[in-house]
Amino acid sequence: MQTLLITGGAGFIGSNFISYLLKSEKNIKVVNLDLLTYAGNPKNLEDVENDPNYIFYKGDICDRLLLEKLFKKYNFTGVIHFAAESHVDNSIQNPDAFVKTNVFGTFTVLDVAKNFWMSAPNSYKKGFKNARFHHISTDEVYGSLSDKGLFSEKTPYAPNSPYSASKASSDFMVRSYYHTYGLNVVTTNCSNNYGPRQHEEKLIPTIIRKALSGKNIPIYGDGKNIRDWLYVLDHCKGIQLVFKEGQAGETYNIGGQNEYNNLYIANKVCEILDTLQPMKSSFKAQIQFVSDRPGHDYRYAIDAAKIKRELGWKASENFESGILKTIHWYLKKYN
Ligand code: NAD
Repeated sequence: MQTLLITGGAGFIGSNFISYLLKSEKNIKVVNLDLLTYAGNPKNLEDVENDPNYIFYKGDICDRLLLEKLFKKYNFTGVIHFAAESHVDNSIQNPDAFVKTNVFGTFTVLDVAKNFWMSAPNSYKKGFKNARFHHISTDEVYGSLSDKGLFSEKTPYAPNSPYSASKASSDFMVRSYYHTYGLNVVTTNCSNNYGPRQHEEKLIPTIIRKALSGKNIPIYGDGKNIRDWLYVLDHCKGIQLVFKEGQAGETYNIGGQNEYNNLYIANKVCEILDTLQPMKSSFKAQIQFVSDRPGHDYRYAIDAAKIKRELGWKASENFESGILKTIHWYLKKYN
């Protein structure tokens, strides 16, 4: 049985991934290391907490001694690294935590894994020949697009927010461990995820929550900023595929080819809520424009041709089907 270290598994994507992995593979044990910051929620893991192949540790990825202890105890042969400060708005208010966790934290996990698995550059210790470090990153490292073009794996990095700059730094650190030490690393850069278990301050949960509570639905600026939306389970399937079959040292972009601006998303969610839970007037009347986020990137869009071509990944959900599942999940949560 293979034992994996998953960091940040109490957050949105990590918890969806752990549930999916433990359901889809029987020969894997998961140790989830999560600091349970405001973004982590143990409730996200209720469906696996009694699974004998699931173990939880509350702790910081910057804590080298803890990581060394865990590697020694469980002999991990894989790391899937989700833990991060992930909210752009918070990175504008408090960049320190982003540099600490995303840059220094990633470095610490990477370095402990390298020391545990390798005896010298390009030389793996016995039993760890296939040990792999999978770094979860974002399309935001590529900066902002105009109306045309897509981010490919070859797009030069141009991060614009403290969040994306810290993720870009962590991507470079991971890259350097491949080139310098020959550590078996893969990186995935994904577009905006949506789906169950997302923190309530993110766009789609905010729209649903504010709509249902009769409050204004805040939309930044003119609502024209475009994101490429991917249902979280499709991201999880892509991660599993890259972790198992991706080529060492490579990066893979994952995205859903679902480009929509924020105003479209707000209107769409309101339309669905109007049919599922009709009120006297449409929820759309609650949409209100608010001051834009400083440095707000205009458009992100992913070219996912590489992961499709090389690994056969394909999204199972389109935006119509994914958003319906998502809204049903939040209705159950909020009602
Ligand atoms: P999230 O904020 O929901 O979860 C992050 C988790 O990391 C939380 O459970 C938190 O408690 C934990 N954490 C934070 N600091 C920690 C520390 N120092 N030590 C241990 N645990 C710590 O984030 P998410 O949306 O699930 O994103 C997961 C990863 O995917 C991140 O690396 C993010 O950059 C990346 N990503 C997210 C998206 C998206 O749309 N959400 C898109 C592409 C990539």
